[in-house]
Amino acid sequence: MDHEIPKDFLRQIVAEDLAAGRYAAPITRFPPEPNGYLHIGHAKSICLNFGIAEEFGGACHMRFDDTNPAKEDQEYVDSILADVKWLGFNWTGPVRYASDYFDQIYAYAEQLIQIGKAYVCDLNAEQMREYRGTLTLPGRDSPGRQRSVDENLDLFRRMRSGEFAEGALTLRARIDMSSPNINLRDPVLYRIRHAEHHQTGGRWCIYPSYDFTHPLSDAIEGITHSLCTLEFEDHRPFYDWLIQSLKTPAQPHQYEFARLNLSYTLTSKRKLKQLVDQGFVEGWDDPRMPTLAGIRRRGIPAAALRRFCQVIGVTRADSMVDVAQLDFCVREHLEAHAPRAMAVLRPLKVILTNWDEGELMLTAPAHQQRPELGERQIPFAKTIYIDREDFAEVPPKGWKRLVPGGEVRLRQAYVIRCDEVLHDLEGRVIELHCSVDKATLGANPEGRKVKGVIHWVSAEHALPATVRIYDRLFAVEDPEADGGDFTAHLNPDSLQILQALIEPGLASLSPEDAVQFEREGYFVADRLLWANGERVFNRIIGLKDSWGKGQSA
Ligand code: ATP
Ligand code: MG
Repeated sequence: MDHEIPKDFLRQIVAEDLAAGRYAAPITRFPPEPNGYLHIGHAKSICLNFGIAEEFGGACHMRFDDTNPAKEDQEYVDSILADVKWLGFNWTGPVRYASDYFDQIYAYAEQLIQIGKAYVCDLNAEQMREYRGTLTLPGRDSPGRQRSVDENLDLFRRMRSGEFAEGALTLRARIDMSSPNINLRDPVLYRIRHAEHHQTGGRWCIYPSYDFTHPLSDAIEGITHSLCTLEFEDHRPFYDWLIQSLKTPAQPHQYEFARLNLSYTLTSKRKLKQLVDQGFVEGWDDPRMPTLAGIRRRGIPAAALRRFCQVIGVTRADSMVDVAQLDFCVREHLEAHAPRAMAVLRPLKVILTNWDEGELMLTAPAHQQRPELGERQIPFAKTIYIDREDFAEVPPKGWKRLVPGGEVRLRQAYVIRCDEVLHDLEGRVIELHCSVDKATLGANPEGRKVKGVIHWVSAEHALPATVRIYDRLFAVEDPEADGGDFTAHLNPDSLQILQALIEPGLASLSPEDAVQFEREGYFVADRLLWANGERVFNRIIGLKDSWGKGQSA
């Protein structure tokens, strides 16, 4: 169950609107452009829009604002729908597309022409920029501004019928070329684009601008609260101008909130696409990517991401959220839910010289604090593997693990003592010979204390597995801070691949199942490779936050 939801300023607005009887229930929407994969910033918007609808008994629409055929693709439509579902939300009604409304939007454009509030403009892109003015200088009127209604209608219809080349003409709103808000300086409503659209095919050769389409789509759908990020604040006057000018059947209101910025992370579709296109990562769903597809592949549970979105809240103040807050939510969830197992990531062979009892099956709880998760069987035998890092010939101060002549407890099993160390020609440790204190299964050794506990697997029974240790994709907190090439700040050690040996019971995991490898961290059975029969784990996160402390997280 998700935790209780505090009322942020948007939820307060919705609650007040309902209390005042302005609406029976809120209708919100999540409106991505299908030009890339969703990222963690979008999760904030998804949780907000779908969350408000759920909490107030309203509806939330899934709508693609698909006005730019050149940059959009069905692949993005499909991935976005899969991501929203994975996050745990269901939209009300069918999947909607702004392109479904192209006929209505076109009719609204003609209506604006009829009431003298839109005109056909002949300026090319460069001239238009020139005429637009600057923040300190007012703009100048386009010559097209003087056209009669009839002339505008005639030209606009001919634009639609394909008579003109791309860029020859545009349809623009007639508002105010000297407005201090540049968005009100006669914004473009329609452009000519002889392009196929992923939804409407070759039906159109003119496409409405995003700014024109978005408010009208909201109005057509009867959206009550149109929630978007702060960069759209300056667009609100045009949104309102449009809704008032056209007397649409519904009058949605736009409200802005601060976008999510996360340390060590990029939240820009365009820049993430660059990482994919230039091969810095293995794809949109690379487990290091902050895309929802990457986060899922990494093994972060959807519930932990929803919890994170709840914890960070919704305000109007721009800020950078510490990625440690996300890590905290992930650990909190996995600590409670992930069953435990042993996996040796850097195997070192150990012969238990006095063990002649053959194979012994030990039983351990799947989760110490949650008996309802059941028990697991761990085979114990004469040859085992421990982690190289749990043995030191010359131990540093405070070392509690195995040393020559020293003792350590094998987790869930016996205390052993290291009697002999075998080396290869280079002096590298290749094998240990140890003896078992057979009186120590579930009991303390006689007359001495053994502090260290290490994990292990039986050589004969363990299964080989590939373990991918992921770390932060970027080495610096804000990869965009210096305004230069953000790829210069990629963490060169963001992926390490190990050949591990795992407890045999783990063979029964399903793709996307998460486990805690004791003393190592949380790992997930890779959703694609595991389904393919390849035993590959991704590290979701380490047990403790040790970033920047000389060791990876
Ligand atoms: P990007 O800059 O990454 O391409 P975008 O805003 O162009 O993002 P859209 O597909 O248009 O991407 O976004 C859909 C919705 O998600 C919009 O309402 C947008 O405001 C919201 N959104 C995008 N990025 C963030 C973010 N970092 N935090 C919160 N909401 C976001
Ligand atoms: Mg956008």
